[in-house]
Amino acid sequence: MSDKYLAAGTQCITKYDNTKPKVEELRFHKGDVVTIINKWQDRGWYRAHNHASGLDGLISGNAVRERPPIKVDQKHSLMPWFHGSITGYQAVQQLQSKEEGLFLVRESMRHPGDYVLCVSHKGEVIHYRICYQDGKLSIDLTQKFCNLIDMIEYYTSNQGVLATKLKKPKPKHGAKSAEEELAKAGWLLSVQHLTIGEKIGEGEFGDVLRGMYMGQPVAIKNIKCDVTAQNFLAETTTMTHLKHKNLVNLLGVVLHNGLYLVMELMSKGNLVGYLRSRGRNNVPHQQLLRFSLDVVQGMEYLEEKRMVHRDLAARNILVSENVEAKISDFGLAKSKLLPEDLSRLPIKWTAPEALRLNKFSSRSDVWSFGILLWEIFSFGRAPYPKMTIREVLQRVQDGYRMDAPESCQPVVFTLMKSCWEEDPSKRPSFKKLREKLEKIMLGD
Ligand code: ADP
Repeated sequence: MSDKYLAAGTQCITKYDNTKPKVEELRFHKGDVVTIINKWQDRGWYRAHNHASGLDGLISGNAVRERPPIKVDQKHSLMPWFHGSITGYQAVQQLQSKEEGLFLVRESMRHPGDYVLCVSHKGEVIHYRICYQDGKLSIDLTQKFCNLIDMIEYYTSNQGVLATKLKKPKPKHGAKSAEEELAKAGWLLSVQHLTIGEKIGEGEFGDVLRGMYMGQPVAIKNIKCDVTAQNFLAETTTMTHLKHKNLVNLLGVVLHNGLYLVMELMSKGNLVGYLRSRGRNNVPHQQLLRFSLDVVQGMEYLEEKRMVHRDLAARNILVSENVEAKISDFGLAKSKLLPEDLSRLPIKWTAPEALRLNKFSSRSDVWSFGILLWEIFSFGRAPYPKMTIREVLQRVQDGYRMDAPESCQPVVFTLMKSCWEEDPSKRPSFKKLREKLEKIMLGD
């Protein structure tokens, strides 16, 4: 790995022990999670932070390996201590070891919608009713929380109104802790190293905030609802399998305030906003081609990995500080777009066979890419101007296709139209599209 460049902020796993470090070197054990702070001189050495010891020091690139993708499934819960609807008696049985601070949460039988926190204290089990009021959870009606994860986090470090701090979760039978799994694989980031800044965007499930993680500017997506967080986590596994310069990189996750997804910061925002705010006088034609090529390279990679995006559109393309375009929301698209819920599909971007027959494929992504090209070359205009969704559905089915954007090169328009072939097999692959775009860029 020493010939591989490790970017600052990369979290890796150590391959062996170094228990007798030389001066300035980092001490570590095999399997420790370390974060690269910066490159040190130029012989494959880095300054790094060891999360196990909390210390900083120098480490060779050879001593670390990339972290494995996250392997979490339904069994891995963000709330392994949540036992659902069990009775008070069953809860007492679960906590019978009487270990001080052992706890679980159950649904309240008597007050549907409320929960009960059961804690072992001095050989007894105490039951605290958690009231759900105005969208918040509370035990004492003073200290309020958005979700159970938050509440448990709080009472693990603060005693508050409880007889004892929460010390150890009693997992539900068969439930595994997602937190432990994430930590082991090196995907859990520590909240102490995360600084949270101002809001820079709004997603469907929560705000996107600017932040810093160990000296790196990052974007943080906060998912507050615990059920959504659990679903997101399962989908994050896909993101951890994928790494490409044109896919927005996931640094890791933090379990705090629900779930934080920590991503590389794309400081110039999404492509629609980028193009609209600058307009045709400020973005050269070559840059439009550059953006198109960036996206197509990312999509070619997804195509190779047999991953279908399903929601490719300029709003899901983000622009970095160095004006590179990267695809976001890959791997998260599947559960967001429930096929039975047609109203939630991005109709103007979705291929006819995907709308009609729910047939999503790389070739239906190619259709969306054609629309995305149209958005790029019209400097962020909404596609099918002045047409309603209903009209688009009907007319596209009858063979209607959009005109070329104003002053768009004919070769580029030909490329767009090839993406809108009715028959998916007649559309080019992303590989082919990449080759064609490269030629256009060279002015052939
Ligand atoms: P969702 O898919 O949940 O609707 P998005 O991922 O599209 O949310 O994020 C909403 C907005 O937040 C984006 O349009 C963009 O402006 C901003 N944003 C999202 N991720 C990043 C990032 N990594 N860097 C900078 N801004 C981002």
